[in-house]
Amino acid sequence: MTNTLSELTVTVHESEVRSTYSRGAAPVAPALAARDDWRLVSWERHPEPTTIPLGGGVVLGSTQVLLMAGPCAVENEDQLMAAAHAVAAAGATVLRGGAFKPRTSPYSFQGLLIQGLKFLDAARTRFGLRIVTEALDQESLGAVAEVADMIQIGARNMQNFSLLSAAGATKKPVLLKRGFAATIDEWLYAAEYVMAAGSPFVALAERGIRTFEPRTRNTLDLAAVPLLRALTHLPIVVDPSHAAGERALVPALSRAAVAAGADALIVEVHPNPAQALSDGPQSLTPHDFTQLARSLAPIAASVDRVV
Ligand code: PEP
Ligand code: MN
Repeated sequence: MTNTLSELTVTVHESEVRSTYSRGAAPVAPALAARDDWRLVSWERHPEPTTIPLGGGVVLGSTQVLLMAGPCAVENEDQLMAAAHAVAAAGATVLRGGAFKPRTSPYSFQGLLIQGLKFLDAARTRFGLRIVTEALDQESLGAVAEVADMIQIGARNMQNFSLLSAAGATKKPVLLKRGFAATIDEWLYAAEYVMAAGSPFVALAERGIRTFEPRTRNTLDLAAVPLLRALTHLPIVVDPSHAAGERALVPALSRAAVAAGADALIVEVHPNPAQALSDGPQSLTPHDFTQLARSLAPIAASVDRVV
């Protein structure tokens, strides 16, 4: 695994490496230089890669690339159980599904709220999956933290600093999604907020950023993966679904993310995407997800990982 700063910077020419924020003995390329006030996220004070125990023996940030999968939103019990059954059978160890949904329109389905959390809890017991689900605000955080093995902070909340601190104070693992207009540095400062509040277990999820290109919902910033690897010890997750916005693109982006060194994928899977109440066009069918999961093994092996 290419986890150390020195491995990534070894080929950089000395004359290129002096930057305003490079310091210490080893010269560092500007793009790979940590900020002085990244007290918790950078390698400097934490030379080992962070591994995040999610319970049940599932660990994020090990040699095993984790598959996190499930519907965008928990819609009803049957839908969630069908999705959970399918993703577990395909090799996922973490079930995703929003009970509290951030929707662009106030008239769109907003999630099943507490009832959705109850279904997630039941799916965990039934299928032995770990649960990642979003806390939309501080009001819902307590209930989400009771059920979630990992609390998701969504792209739209990446700089909701009071929510970041409150999530960190739960001391639970946090999946911090990148804001769609956030720079890498802003994202790492957001992770710093969570960690400063008490949770050492933050994973960073690249989910696409907004660019001039309208054919994809967002643009997957794959460079973020090796860049983050150079800047931080935190695990890196890639969400190809929200990046692409279109299911046909998801398998290739997933394989590329594993090749780039992602520690996990988080993929939307729905038992019947045509009927989905949110993000149907980007959701894989159980069959597609099973095929995708199978195709990842040789890619993972090529970067010394397993799926
Ligand atoms: C989601 O995971 O369903 C979601 C809303 O993601 P994001 O916050 O990245 O848009
Ligand atoms: Mn979604």
